[in-house]
Amino acid sequence: MPECLFCKIAAGELDTELVYEDEEVVAFNDLNPQAPIHVLVIPRKHIATLNDLEPADAGLVGRLYLAATTLARKKGVDDSGYRTLMNCNADGGQTVFHLHLHLLGGRRMGWPPG
Ligand code: 5GP
Ligand code: ZN
Repeated sequence: MPECLFCKIAAGELDTELVYEDEEVVAFNDLNPQAPIHVLVIPRKHIATLNDLEPADAGLVGRLYLAATTLARKKGVDDSGYRTLMNCNADGGQTVFHLHLHLLGGRRMGWPPG
């Protein structure tokens, strides 16, 4: 998707530092962090929303979570705790239409989320 911001980041076309990458997944710090640690973990493949996942993407979704847990360990919040979440469409608060897993940590999270 040539006009997709996160496709461009995954392809290294923007000046965004990747904090994790493998063949299928990349991660980078959120531009507008909501916690001391706020990383976005995305598939290299363009998938617009959770609604667009197909059965063949099941392994890819697992890889997003494994990348997030790797990052949580690396950043030292695996024991203290953290939150992972994906927003879907307007009511979910999604603003960028390329699937992304938020990894938030470094402070106590509220519940329920706003
Ligand atoms: P959403 O609201 O779609 O779940 O999350 C989109 C996230 O992407 C937001 O937290 C927003 O701050 C982040 N974001 C939007 N544009 C950019 C960008 O150009 N670079 C980075 N690193 N993050 C971005
Ligand atoms: Zn994309």
